Amino acid sequence: MSTCTLCKRRKAIFMRFYSGENLCKICFCRSIESKVRTTISRYEMLNPCDKIMVAVSGGKDSVTLLHILAKIEKEFPKAKLSAINIDEGIKGYSVEAQRVTKKNCRKLNIECVLISFKEMYGYNLDDIVKMTREKALSPCSFCGMLRRKALNIAARESGGNKLATAHNLDDETQTMILNIFNGNVLQIARVKPVLEVIHPKFIQRIKPLCLVPEREIAFYAYLNGIEFQSMVCPYSETALRNDIRQLVNRMEEKHPGTKFTIFRSIEKIRPAIESITESLKIRDCKMCGEPTIGETCQPCQILLELSIL
Ligand code: SF4
Ligand code: ZN
Ligand code: ZN
Repeated sequence: MSTCTLCKRRKAIFMRFYSGENLCKICFCRSIESKVRTTISRYEMLNPCDKIMVAVSGGKDSVTLLHILAKIEKEFPKAKLSAINIDEGIKGYSVEAQRVTKKNCRKLNIECVLISFKEMYGYNLDDIVKMTREKALSPCSFCGMLRRKALNIAARESGGNKLATAHNLDDETQTMILNIFNGNVLQIARVKPVLEVIHPKFIQRIKPLCLVPEREIAFYAYLNGIEFQSMVCPYSETALRNDIRQLVNRMEEKHPGTKFTIFRSIEKIRPAIESITESLKIRDCKMCGEPTIGETCQPCQILLELSIL
């Protein structure tokens, strides 16, 4: 490969098709960190005194986010960074995820808050999957709902005022397309870099990697020797999302920059949808007191069904 487009000195090792740049190791890593900084300031994600809780699953995206935020945080001595790991109770998978998360936290000298489905809800995901085999919902939909609630409670109880998740550009564009496929129009308004705090019990969610393609996060992790969990969750869905992933990746190959185009298009559409969602009333769940749209939050509905199964 040729010389780096930016420093014009070192040998390029990465070709960024959508911008036409060929980058050396140093310029590539700097470009990712600077993309995260720009995203944080463009969407006003952080303030200098924030207590940021990072949701770390142990996978490459969340561990990389933790490393990049740890670097950025050094410039803000009043900010505090901690990690939260949720043990879903998936045999052979969750233990390894927690081991990798703890190891990275030790290395970065970051506090790690550990919460499990079992202690919060009384059931492991494995138990729930066995008990709900007949239901139409997939393990991932149970897991997603229970994890979102657990993360919010853990972040709040740890004194956090920001909850950073590692959704990358690929995740965001796939979810946007999936929402259109499934007709979840109102959900389109919820896929955004910073979620508004629509209830005092919600901790503000931010997505500092939302403009970084997945492939570049993987390469950054590799170049920096970041250890992450490579095991795939046994319940990982292979259905529609994977087909959408392939579709978007094929389009990106043929038309570099497609993922950014999708992301920007939804940014334009979102305000119109938001004007509809503004009228939705958020109240306290009558079972657990956590914020919800209906009378009972979805995790409580799941647990209620499990206890009478
Ligand atoms: Fe949970 Fe599905 Fe992720 Fe497994 S793949 S951890 S079940 S959301
Ligand atoms: Zn360079
Ligand atoms: Zn509830």
